[in-house]
Amino acid sequence: MRRPLVAGNWKMFTDPASAGKLAGELREKFADCAWADIVVCPPFTSLHAVAGSLPDSNIEIGGQNMHWENEGAFTGEISATMLLNAGCKWVIIGHSERRRYFSETDDRVLSKVSSALAAGLKPIVCVGETLDQREAEITEKTVETQLYGGLGKIEDINGLTVAYEPVWAIGTGKNATPGQAEEVHRFIRKLIAERWGAGIADSIRILYGGSVKPENAGSLSREENIDGFLVGGASLKADSFLGIAESLK
Ligand code: PEP
Repeated sequence: MRRPLVAGNWKMFTDPASAGKLAGELREKFADCAWADIVVCPPFTSLHAVAGSLPDSNIEIGGQNMHWENEGAFTGEISATMLLNAGCKWVIIGHSERRRYFSETDDRVLSKVSSALAAGLKPIVCVGETLDQREAEITEKTVETQLYGGLGKIEDINGLTVAYEPVWAIGTGKNATPGQAEEVHRFIRKLIAERWGAGIADSIRILYGGSVKPENAGSLSREENIDGFLVGGASLKADSFLGIAESLK
């Protein structure tokens, strides 16, 4: 039985004051949450404030990106160790916005995931097709290329989470139907079984992301291979983030 996981990607929203306030609200609202792992991923500049608002909390913190080297002359970058030191246990890698706006390739994803795992951070690795790729009926091929390109050379993927995020559903209000999402989640689990074995495929969590809200989370969460959600917009309001998590009870 896989334990549900809900991660909030706050993207480039919040300043330290509003992030600390939101984290404080979440701390109260999720105080009784024993049914799922909950993670929030604020911008780097708000990590300190969020960590300060979540003492003794069951909510964990993640970064939204990281560099693959541990230190060096990489202006503007943050390493896995720096994230750990800022209170993070998790990190999102390969988000479609990183791929699209910052030319992040599967090779880069591979370097970052390797570095995150070596440092002891838990990566949430995003894959997903664009609308053009779905319409060209190459969704499976796209996801397979991203999954094996980003992870295939890593022998032990224990501790890692995959997030299936169809690009056409992110921030658009158009979520994949439960059937569409389940079909790709089942395919991803099959790919994991083929590369890393049935045991790891059975235990690894595969999240769905793309316009998840309390109103659509229930039907998505009933699908066998959907183990939780990576949430953007709706994670910026404590009540809607809680509503999404409650759908996984
Ligand atoms: C995301 O940023 O990963 C995401 C899924 O965003 P939204 O929920 O806003 O579509």
